[in-house]
Amino acid sequence: MVSIIKRKVLDGVYWIEIPEVDLRILCGCPADSIKHCATKGLLKIVKEDGIEYESGPNAMLLSDDLIQNGSLSNVSEFVAYHMFYTQGMIIPTHPSFKKPNPLMIGKKDQVDAQMEYIFYGNYGLTREKEFLDCGESVSFAKENIAMKLRFAQNNFTHTRDLIDPVYLNRKKVELRNGVFVRRIKHNVFDFTYKNKSVQVNLNLRKYRHYQPTFVLPQRTIPDDYFSVTHTGEGDGWNPHKPSLSSIIRFDGRFFLIDAGPYIKKILKAVGLTPDQLSGIFITHVHDDHFAGLFNLIRENNRLTIHATPVIRATLQKKFSSLLSVSEEEVGRYFNFSDLKRDVWNQRYGMEVKPLPTAHPVDTTIFIFRVKGKERYYSYGHYSDIAALSWLKTMIVDKKGEIGISRKYYETIKSDFEIVLDLKKIDVGGPAIHGDAEDFAADRTGKLVLGHSHLPFTERQLAIGDEVNFGHVDTLIKKKP
Ligand SMILES: [Zn+2]
Ligand SMILES: [Zn+2]
Repeated sequence: MVSIIKRKVLDGVYWIEIPEVDLRILCGCPADSIKHCATKGLLKIVKEDGIEYESGPNAMLLSDDLIQNGSLSNVSEFVAYHMFYTQGMIIPTHPSFKKPNPLMIGKKDQVDAQMEYIFYGNYGLTREKEFLDCGESVSFAKENIAMKLRFAQNNFTHTRDLIDPVYLNRKKVELRNGVFVRRIKHNVFDFTYKNKSVQVNLNLRKYRHYQPTFVLPQRTIPDDYFSVTHTGEGDGWNPHKPSLSSIIRFDGRFFLIDAGPYIKKILKAVGLTPDQLSGIFITHVHDDHFAGLFNLIRENNRLTIHATPVIRATLQKKFSSLLSVSEEEVGRYFNFSDLKRDVWNQRYGMEVKPLPTAHPVDTTIFIFRVKGKERYYSYGHYSDIAALSWLKTMIVDKKGEIGISRKYYETIKSDFEIVLDLKKIDVGGPAIHGDAEDFAADRTGKLVLGHSHLPFTERQLAIGDEVNFGHVDTLIKKKP
């Protein structure tokens, strides 16, 4: 048996496996690296204690440089989620639960920064004061903290309690049972086990860039007055599709909703550059909606982010952890234009209403409307949401119990039922994603399915439509 297996995942990213000690190390974790692991067949289905599940990395080695050739090299949130949820390491009933914590190896400043950024990505705002600082009421804060606590199994656990840090300086460090790692030079590491050693080089060569797993066709956005272009119907796991996002065209302006990995390539595929955007609406800061924002930071001509103060705060906190800069500094990367929740906000003549919804991290869905000749035309961007069947299990009647009120549940349900011209829905499935069944009786003109890594089922396709990348839904053809 080979004691150490080394595989290239993509430029600057490698997989090291030592089967004898059950150690699988993802070396380098730019955005979507878990999607690359999937396409390379590294996430094998295993069976343990009668349960079949997808295995994957149980350690990650960070790049010494956070940024290489203009892109982030350390974006480990979805690798961590794979360890926590897909591999079941934090699920008490799962066979992986009894295993040692996964490892995060690297320079101290990078490891600490990643731990913080994962925390904010996982939970968002966790203290009442953080909500009050955003101008929210005590009752809103309490309600949302309780909702998120239920998703978090009643505890906002710090990443440090879920992943063991391994700080690497000049010395050789033992990872587990005779496996050692040592930094030979900047971003070059040597792994040894028994009498075998292999090296990985996480440096990206000049002019080389991390590449996505998906290939996009070239599309053009027609010159309609008000339209929605579908630029992603996948999720953080789907190697064939970009994560859920849309582009709104209104009166000659373009607005992006959410910025997942490889957003510049996505924009390019529909004939746009970041400079052409009049703004970005942000639903929430899970990496499949957030990780591309870094590539949209412009020194001159800053882009405007439209979000509620709570979502803006989660974005600033996550960004400041990731980049190890102050929140004020993050405030200089973008113009922030705060939206009021639950009411119509005017943006260049288009109206937008953010509605807070249930998800493990603070999230709003958006409804956009524009006045046509006789009536308003509307688009609902329902990403990310939770299944009502799951939310129902979170209802508590007694004071002091952690969960949601019946009233909160009814509000979410009635938000789902709003009749629009076009609605794109997260159907990723419970616990933390939406369910197509909740829209089975929806009288909305057209329902578009999104946020999945599996082929849509016949039943889902009976409720909503699957669209291809770059598909355009025209809501108002000509300016009235
Ligand atoms: Zn999400
Ligand atoms: Zn998502």
